[in-house]
Amino acid sequence: MILVRYAVICKTCGKKFYINTNAKLRTELPVSFTLQCSLCSHSYTYSSYDVTAESSGNTAAAGALIGGLLGLMAGGAGAVVGAAIGAAVGGKGEKSDNVAVKRFNNS
Ligand SMILES: [Zn+2]
Repeated sequence: MILVRYAVICKTCGKKFYINTNAKLRTELPVSFTLQCSLCSHSYTYSSYDVTAESSGNTAAAGALIGGLLGLMAGGAGAVVGAAIGAAVGGKGEKSDNVAVKRFNNS
């Protein structure tokens, strides 16, 4: 599972907010587009170079959580094994995230 977030630094409040896009490369984004900051609600025109891809970073934690829940149903020892499997699955996802993140940021 590839979880990549696209971050933009708001030109009004300077805080980072996230946008939804299916773009895999910067060139797939429009040259300029208007975004509304989710924090201060100001709209501003941004360019594709204002968008930075980053790994969501939650994949390992989410994997561990799901694994832990599976283990919980199987019993105490299973919870440990489940969490370990979950962390391994999450770690794998993170690797492909980083590839996607690099590909976007270098485009
Ligand atoms: Zn803002």
